[in-house]
Amino acid sequence: MGGGPAGASAAYWAASAGLDVLVLERKHFPRPKTCGDGLTPRAVKQLTDMGLAKTLNGYHRFKGLRTSAHGQTLSMPWPKHSIYPPYGYVAVRSSLDQAVLSRAAEAGAEVRFGAEATSPLLTDGLCGGVAVRYREDGGNEDIPARYLVIADGANSRIGRFLGCSRDRSFPQGMAIRTYFASPLHADPWIESVLDVRDRNGDSLPGYGWVFPLGDGTVNVGIGLLSTYKGFRSVNTSWLMKEWAHALPGHWEVDPEAPVSPPTGGRLPMAGSIQPKAGPNFLVVGDAAGSVNPFNGEGIDYAYETGRLAAELISEAVICDDGTALSHYPELLETEYGLYFKVARLFSYLIGRPALMGELTRLGMRSQVLMEGAFRIMANLMREEEPGAAEYVYRSLARVAKLWPE
Ligand SMILES: Cc1cc2nc3c(=O)[nH]c(=O)nc-3n(C[C@H](O)[C@H](O)[C@H](O)COP(=O)(O)OP(=O)(O)OC[C@H]3O[C@@H](n4cnc5c(N)ncnc54)[C@H](O)[C@@H]3O)c2cc1C
Repeated sequence: MGGGPAGASAAYWAASAGLDVLVLERKHFPRPKTCGDGLTPRAVKQLTDMGLAKTLNGYHRFKGLRTSAHGQTLSMPWPKHSIYPPYGYVAVRSSLDQAVLSRAAEAGAEVRFGAEATSPLLTDGLCGGVAVRYREDGGNEDIPARYLVIADGANSRIGRFLGCSRDRSFPQGMAIRTYFASPLHADPWIESVLDVRDRNGDSLPGYGWVFPLGDGTVNVGIGLLSTYKGFRSVNTSWLMKEWAHALPGHWEVDPEAPVSPPTGGRLPMAGSIQPKAGPNFLVVGDAAGSVNPFNGEGIDYAYETGRLAAELISEAVICDDGTALSHYPELLETEYGLYFKVARLFSYLIGRPALMGELTRLGMRSQVLMEGAFRIMANLMREEEPGAAEYVYRSLARVAKLWPE
């Protein structure tokens, strides 16, 4: 259940494999979704694989990241990679999510909007389906299902019913965003600022972004990690206001005139939620805590985990043997385990403002260093032709392996 990136991807791949698929989505699409709207090359690949390359052409394409800190600015094109394209898009989520879910419907999935899953149907510890409430008429229905994909996002009510919970020793993100009109709305770079300051010049926690949408507006937001010491006491609305006033001048944004009220949300990350699989269910996307702690990217990981879940469920259906699902945690571990562990280590380091300040000061002196960091943080490393970034990553991974859980 859930028709966001994770649920839509799972539905597309399962329906394409010939399975009977029902998507339960509690909202009606298009629906607004709080997000930075940034799609990296990894997400572009997933969308292209789902046959959505043409749809992507309708969004604003960008060629890389401009980043600034301590008075320095560097522009870094997306790194070259044999699998991933050297560009990303900024795509407003209401439209993007609708396009992906429509694609799943074209592949044969049935989609029910306004259908809220309220609880799993449990018999002898097995989940035989879900209870659904239809939001229009308040009607209820018990829907049986042989296999379930839990894709209901960061607050995952159904996941909690099934015993899934966040490991609190893992970092978590929190972010807020809004939109502003800007003459630079079609800029070919997205921008991040690593040392945001308030109107008094005092350092603020987190990093700020400006993502141009190409439609007259820019998505402006700021996010921080729970590893930051004062995380709990941070007022994100105030943070957003201060960040809007601190935006680089070239965007020519009127900080007092957002085109919509700011909204925020949580980013469950690094695979922090357990368990991710049961005898006949798999947990994907934000419900599984799949966001990349390095950059707050969750859309691609939602597509990827949804796809993996669909592949395993297809295998289970074809072989008439549900044990295929038990491989899911191990496959996730192989794909993301070490990378997320390195990212967690990094998140603890940058949670210390003084250390973060020194690291960015050092990094901003070198284009090569920052390009390497960009490749690592966007998870665009090359196994087959390792360069400086891959060697640095391998050293970090050796340290992370020694780091106790
Ligand atoms: C401020 C902010 C900025 C972000 N910026 C970026 C970014 O720029 N790039 C990026 O890659 N990631 C970004 N993310 C993360 C990204 O938004 C998420 O990782 C991504 O949306 C996860 O997809 P999902 O399908 O798992 O969950 P969701 O997108 O949350 O989708 C879940 C769906 O399930 C539905 N649902 C929920 N409960 C039920 C239920 N009980 N029954 C039926 N349906 C239900 C919801 O209506 C929703 O449509 C950002 C997050 C935040 C908060």
